[in-house]
Amino acid sequence: MPERTSKRLTTLAHEQVASVLIEGDVAIDATAGNGHDTVFLRRCVGETGQVVAFDVQALALANTEQRLRAVFGRATDNVQLIMSCHSTLVTHCETREGDVGAVMFNLGYLPGADHRVVTTPVSTRSAIAAACRWLRPGGLVSVLVYVGHDGGAEELGTVLALCDQLSPRYTVDHYQSQHAPSTAPQLFRIVRDV
Ligand code: SAH
Repeated sequence: MPERTSKRLTTLAHEQVASVLIEGDVAIDATAGNGHDTVFLRRCVGETGQVVAFDVQALALANTEQRLRAVFGRATDNVQLIMSCHSTLVTHCETREGDVGAVMFNLGYLPGADHRVVTTPVSTRSAIAAACRWLRPGGLVSVLVYVGHDGGAEELGTVLALCDQLSPRYTVDHYQSQHAPSTAPQLFRIVRDV
């Protein structure tokens, strides 16, 4: 059962990620969407770090690029936007296994866009598994799962099963907002032991 929290799950996810990232880290946004997490990760890793953001939709990457420009001006050389499935992160990232500080997933569909373009269990599973392997000691994978749409419950089941099967060197915490119905989003924090 998820632990209940009075915080918004997006706020809690940001607090958790900020607590492990340091200036100069490598961070991955597995679902760029409208770019909120990409901007947040770039702030955490600073000028000397590196952010890699994935999305399968050109619209999402355009929105992300626009948001980056609005916030940082032209100083976003250290953010790489990749139009590809996040399950390919291992081939696209120049970092080695064990080098990544944090990976964020915000699953589901892009609000305001085509709801049929949605994350799906098979690629979500393989992307989260790869993200866990790529973490450095003390690194964190954050997964926000939406349950209300078609396929959402199945995707939640996949994430729960994967978390159960992870090696004991990963610690998983699982949250849902206080008083929220069972169809409300759920957050998973997966931390690699130091
Ligand atoms: N549900 C969230 C937003 C999620 S955005 C909210 O309501 O705030 C999820 C993003 O994941 C979308 O932009 C979508 O295009 C992207 N996406 C879908 N499948 C993907 C995949 N296999 N790899 C990478 N990104 C994917």
